[in-house]
Amino acid sequence: MSQAPETIFSKIIRREIPADIVYEDGLAIAFRDVSPQAPIHILVIPKKPIPRLSEAEQQDETLLGHLLRVVQQVAVQEKLEQGFRVVINNGEDGGQTVEHLHLHLLGGRSLSWPPG
Ligand code: IMP
Repeated sequence: MSQAPETIFSKIIRREIPADIVYEDGLAIAFRDVSPQAPIHILVIPKKPIPRLSEAEQQDETLLGHLLRVVQQVAVQEKLEQGFRVVINNGEDGGQTVEHLHLHLLGGRSLSWPPG
């Protein structure tokens, strides 16, 4: 794995910049996206600074599964029983802008498909 760059998400984890945190445990943290694309738009991130999904390693397998369990839990917390979407943007063509793995949890409205 390449050296993980310092990102704004590392600063959120360390509480150096404010964020609306909705969930935290030893491995992950979830906070509201500053530029929401749906009524509910939350980012679930590992505390470990994996730059992008394509750089996750075998040893991260349990952590990756944990992130989906956190999404599940936050979706219940946010009352998204009507449904929701989980998105991981990976790399330039994937539209990734922050080099710290994050899962977008989107919900609260009917979402169209396919995304742009
Ligand atoms: P990406 O385009 O998949 O990399 O998503 C990055 C997301 O991070 C975007 O949806 C941004 O709106 C969001 N974002 C960037 N900076 C912050 C912040 O300081 N707090 C919360 N969300 C942020």
